Amino acid sequence: MAEILIQNAGTVLTMDDARRVLHGADVLIRGGEIAAVGQGLQTSGETVSGRGCVVTPGLVNTHHHLYQNLTRAVPGAQDALLFGWLQRLYPVWARFTPDEMFVSAQLGLAELALSGCTLSADHLYLYPNGARLEDTIHAARSIGLRFHPTRGAMSIGESDGGLPPDSLVEDERAILDDMIRVVDAFHDPSEGSMCRVGLAPCSPFSVSRELMRDTALLARDKGVMLHTHLAENDEDIAYSQAQFGCRPGQYAEELGWTGDDVWHAHCVKLDVQEIDLFARTRTGVAHCPCSNCRLGSGIAPVRAMRDAGVPVGLGVDGSASNDMASLSAEARQAMLLQRVANGADAMSAYEALEIATRGGADVLGRPDCGRLEPGKRADIAIWDTTGVASSGSWDAAALLLAGPTRVKHLFVEGRQVIRGGELTTVDLPRLLERHRGLAQRLMEG
Ligand SMILES: [Zn+2]
Repeated sequence: MAEILIQNAGTVLTMDDARRVLHGADVLIRGGEIAAVGQGLQTSGETVSGRGCVVTPGLVNTHHHLYQNLTRAVPGAQDALLFGWLQRLYPVWARFTPDEMFVSAQLGLAELALSGCTLSADHLYLYPNGARLEDTIHAARSIGLRFHPTRGAMSIGESDGGLPPDSLVEDERAILDDMIRVVDAFHDPSEGSMCRVGLAPCSPFSVSRELMRDTALLARDKGVMLHTHLAENDEDIAYSQAQFGCRPGQYAEELGWTGDDVWHAHCVKLDVQEIDLFARTRTGVAHCPCSNCRLGSGIAPVRAMRDAGVPVGLGVDGSASNDMASLSAEARQAMLLQRVANGADAMSAYEALEIATRGGADVLGRPDCGRLEPGKRADIAIWDTTGVASSGSWDAAALLLAGPTRVKHLFVEGRQVIRGGELTTVDLPRLLERHRGLAQRLMEG
């Protein structure tokens, strides 16, 4: 089996169970796996110099809406609160076709890869004009990232008192049928899998109680994970109390939406009882600090969640609510926000990197990813710390305290997806040209 040796790295942050930090160390890749981590390793295969670099597990993105990068910085949505923001953007998204879904997913995954991400989830909850989940799966294959797409859904349109226009909602029977179709066609449960499908009604305010319950039953039947938005801001809590007579945590629990096969995005407004519920049930959280800041939603109680034992990963969220989808920037923001809320010692750069790597992998049910140790998948980010951003730094914590924010090399399942800062899998200038063309068409209406 082909071997690649990352040789003589300045620092290797293993994120293994002992959280070992090695200096002057090597990482040996064999096939799609990490074969060894340590000093003085040898290979007859290819070598990649790690000199002057920090080597980390690939970062893991647990929440995104890739399609939204065609609607960045839209006037009228730049400064709106969540519900107003959605209402500005729904009519634009209603014009998307399979082309927009494919190209935006390619662009979004390329952007993530450049920021050190090797595994991303995606939450696609609208399917206008023949768009399908596999439009994004094909895009992920072309970029070479490990991908956890989720079949999202909305079923309560304007005429039923919901937020989205009727043209963007689907019949609930059709939603469940398509969920079954995409799981059967694309979900790969095996170790080292490059594609696992999850089920993900958009939020408790865009589908019925019955669909939430039926989706949970279906996910358990198929052995796939569940994902949705929960407790994002004060409006969200007020809606839950008015419509369901309870807080979001209770609603989730009653409908089968807790457990180690469930992860919820945002959870900014979880209270003490809900944090305890999530910790007891090992329910995961996708923390999206930039999006929470951008939409003024608040600061998620990540310190309290981590202390209680809630599994927490990071998410960049959709590019219309965090116009910059950089996972390294997201890790930095997570660290800074906990310090704003709880003091300068509330979260170290190393803890934020842990959340960004093994934390996210655990949230997505991937203990085979997110750490550099023998037998784990060879998903590896290599950061050049000899450049302007990190020159003069005394410690690898500079990765979040200073930079760089882009990787030099990136490996996914042992395959080099970025070499010397450039994508090896697609022609980026051509992709950008195509993407700009589609955005222009949407802008002109
Ligand atoms: Zn979201």
